[in-house]
Amino acid sequence: MIAASMLQRLRNKAGYLLSSVGKRLAGGHRNCPSCGAAPAERLDQKWLVTSFCRCERCQLLYRIPTSDARENEAFYQEDYTEGFTTDLPSAAEIQDLIATRFANSEKNYAHYLAVLRALGVSPGARLFDYGCSWGYGSHQLAAAGYEVDAFEISRPRAAYARSQLGVSMPEMEALPSASYDVFFSAHVIEHVPSPSAMIALGMRLLKPGGLFVCFCPNGSLTFRQRAPRDWHLMWGQSHPQLIDEVFLRHAFPQQPLFIHSAPLLHGAQPEHLSPVSGWSRQSDVHFGNLDHVELLFAVVQTPSCG
Ligand SMILES: [Zn+2]
Repeated sequence: MIAASMLQRLRNKAGYLLSSVGKRLAGGHRNCPSCGAAPAERLDQKWLVTSFCRCERCQLLYRIPTSDARENEAFYQEDYTEGFTTDLPSAAEIQDLIATRFANSEKNYAHYLAVLRALGVSPGARLFDYGCSWGYGSHQLAAAGYEVDAFEISRPRAAYARSQLGVSMPEMEALPSASYDVFFSAHVIEHVPSPSAMIALGMRLLKPGGLFVCFCPNGSLTFRQRAPRDWHLMWGQSHPQLIDEVFLRHAFPQQPLFIHSAPLLHGAQPEHLSPVSGWSRQSDVHFGNLDHVELLFAVVQTPSCG
């Protein structure tokens, strides 16, 4: 099983590098996946053929050559392997995970639930879990008392979430606007074909005053200076873009915005939660810190969104 997974990773890497060489030779695949503008400055490079840039218009940090939506979908249906994230648990394994409430699992959502509580999201709130993989997070969010709907691009993982964990996965096209209190995503925005399209979807689905809550790798210069090797390894094939405060301030110029980072730890960490619970939702932008590997940002849906 491990050997097969490693082989798949090697195949992915070889395919990615060959495709990158081909795209370099052919030209193109340089414009921002989120807004279509040209790259402004090159910040990093790997393998001679891939580089990492900031968009001159929307300020997104993204990898060149870019992937299009068709390549992205094929990758997530067929090639993407991230160990436990994408290996579907057996019937016995899922029974054990449910019985133990994922407590001993690396997919324990205690940290994310603590952040939601610190943001003042009460049980009973309607929450949309965008990019739910096989449903481990949606299940725990529902068990914590939230009314959860979810979406997952991978059909096998979506089917597993629905059938094995009872996750509600309505048709995206049929979702009414302004119907959720929280649009939640954990480690999704760095993978999607277009962050701006994901943000627009979230803002459309949120009720006025609702919260767009997003966890992702920390692309900020502050974290790069603290951990240059970690930052260098964060972007690449499966992370075609990173989010940082420069992009967020440009994406949300008018809305109350909160930006914070924490170590990737499971279980509530009071010292990392106090800036979250202290956010007033009133000011234009409020920073916790940008020192750690996992970025959290939250935005209030207001009439000027979108
Ligand atoms: Zn852009």
